[in-house]
Amino acid sequence: MRIVFIGPPGAGKGTQAIRLAGELAIPHLSTGELLRAACHQGTDVGLAAAESMDAGRLVPDALVQQILVARLQEADCHGGFLLDGFPRTVAQAQALDDLLSEGDIPLNMAIELRVAQQELLSRLAVRGRDDDQTSVIAERLRQYDNLTHPLLDYYEKRNLLRTIDGHGSPDDVFDRIMATVRAAEPHVD
Ligand code: AMP
Repeated sequence: MRIVFIGPPGAGKGTQAIRLAGELAIPHLSTGELLRAACHQGTDVGLAAAESMDAGRLVPDALVQQILVARLQEADCHGGFLLDGFPRTVAQAQALDDLLSEGDIPLNMAIELRVAQQELLSRLAVRGRDDDQTSVIAERLRQYDNLTHPLLDYYEKRNLLRTIDGHGSPDDVFDRIMATVRAAEPHVD
């Protein structure tokens, strides 16, 4: 299966995406992780991305696409993949569609994890990652609303969007995700 995961910072996207990829036995590809690894390795892409990441802004599309396309070409992605944090802009979604249509391997679904703004803020306040300082959190949420939120419409129009209520325990949220995946793809057991 080919799935994209969409959700604001603090929605539990990473945790749920890792678990779902494990359950479906497909690789979990997080562009945030790929970018953080590139930063630590000091590659050109990493150095160019670091400034945007530290400020809570999205990294320019061309840089993220470069890193993601390289990863998608690796052998383990041929049988499907779960993208966590990509696409985050409509331009990235179009680039992904173009890439997948070249191989005639369309996406199966886009999963949106939806959590109320107040709940996101209180979850992020206790998480304590480098990019969780108050000013950076505010900027990341703004970037989500302005640049990533329009993706929901993009996938809705293609009938690929599945919105999941992200409130409650991680197990409850995961059960909702699995029920949705099974309803859309009945061969998943
Ligand atoms: P994440 O781990 O998914 O929260 O991503 C951490 C940071 O990496 C984000 O705040 C962005 O600065 C950057 N990033 C990750 N994925 C993307 C993407 N698809 N487009 C642009 N920036 C990204």
